[in-house]
Amino acid sequence: MREAQGGYLTDPTEHHEAILSAVDAGFERQIQFTEALVRFPSIRGQEGTCQDFLFDAYQSRGYAVDRWRIHPEDIAHHPGFSPVSVSYDQAINVVASHRPQEQIGRSLILNGHVDVVPTGPVDLWQQPPFEPVRRGDWLYGRGAGDMKAGLAANLFALDAIASLGLQPAAPVFVQSVTEEECTGNGALAALVRGYQADAAIITEPVGESLVRTNVGVIWFQVHVTGHPVHVASASSGANAIDAAMYLIAALKDFERDRNAQKSRYPLFADLEKPINVNVGKIAGGDWASSVPAWCRFDVRTGLYPGEDAKEQARAIEDFLRQAAGGHPFLSNNPPEVSFNGFMAEGYVLEPGSDAEQLLVNLHRKVVGAPLQDISSLAYLDARVFALYAETPCLVYGPDSDNIHGFDERVSLKSIRRVTKTLALFIAEWCGLEPQPKA
Ligand code: ZN
Repeated sequence: MREAQGGYLTDPTEHHEAILSAVDAGFERQIQFTEALVRFPSIRGQEGTCQDFLFDAYQSRGYAVDRWRIHPEDIAHHPGFSPVSVSYDQAINVVASHRPQEQIGRSLILNGHVDVVPTGPVDLWQQPPFEPVRRGDWLYGRGAGDMKAGLAANLFALDAIASLGLQPAAPVFVQSVTEEECTGNGALAALVRGYQADAAIITEPVGESLVRTNVGVIWFQVHVTGHPVHVASASSGANAIDAAMYLIAALKDFERDRNAQKSRYPLFADLEKPINVNVGKIAGGDWASSVPAWCRFDVRTGLYPGEDAKEQARAIEDFLRQAAGGHPFLSNNPPEVSFNGFMAEGYVLEPGSDAEQLLVNLHRKVVGAPLQDISSLAYLDARVFALYAETPCLVYGPDSDNIHGFDERVSLKSIRRVTKTLALFIAEWCGLEPQPKA
């Protein structure tokens, strides 16, 4: 134990075994807490009550808690802003702050997102998606993996340290943000509000790997207007659904061309299909016996790290305009393209940071195997830290299956290992000091 000015700085390695045991001791409570989070159907627009629950959980532990509604106008100036197309009435962020008695170590952000994606047809689940069930090593439920297990792990890693009468000797900010599944504006709003630290960890369900690089994501919506007539004289009309199908088929060429560029990106070159262009939603027409007058479909595409999102958006518009030029009706009635969500760039986690080295060491200690790198093909809020705050952001979290699908599940053993690694990381990165006397 070393003396530090004004108090003790305890050597974190001395406490490793006690911290690991403390995670075990709190683990049943941690999983119950995770289950409580899963019970909130916190799809976008309905996440406020889950955020209230987290607010109370943070506050009852003595953290200073900041809860605010995201106002798009506060972040619209930022280059990382994505266009907003839904109500932000329930777009609530919550951040818990720990301040040390004396800062000795380095500050840390523990980030997670509260929003979950829709369940799809509930009868295709083995159990109701918002009624968590444990079976063997797995906890089932929408959001169990993505990412309520991570939100709980962030908090319970700190609880394990607190249970020993210790606390981080540096500021720690525990963030529960929203809008991760559609814009990334939640994490961005937390940055714009002033939350910064020497490193960040996001406990997304990435199979106990470290995300080395991540694609960017753009959302766009294509509107096709037809010319309605009775089907009896269909040849005189213009079928908006047929025209939309033509454009959707053309987007397969777009996707193929984009993936043909992968050799320029070494971290993606070995992947079969790094850029996924997904038509995720479609609507159109009003009546089976009327030639449809309208069709609208929603698309998500990836982009390579280093690509400018706004340039890529223009390339999408150009591609669709050209494709429309080859169609008898669309050539004179071009589709309208709007951008209604993600306008987010990819990033690379630069190797060699102290934070990464520490995670590598602690992962090996807890798991007994080397930490693997992965290239992620799904959006991650880490881009906010990497691109706009020059903060090493480690995306590292538990094993899961079927996120965004049916019967989403997360591994309990994996959550336990991740929480242990995380608790040791906090201790080593921030340092430890005794809790103040009540
Ligand atoms: Zn996620």
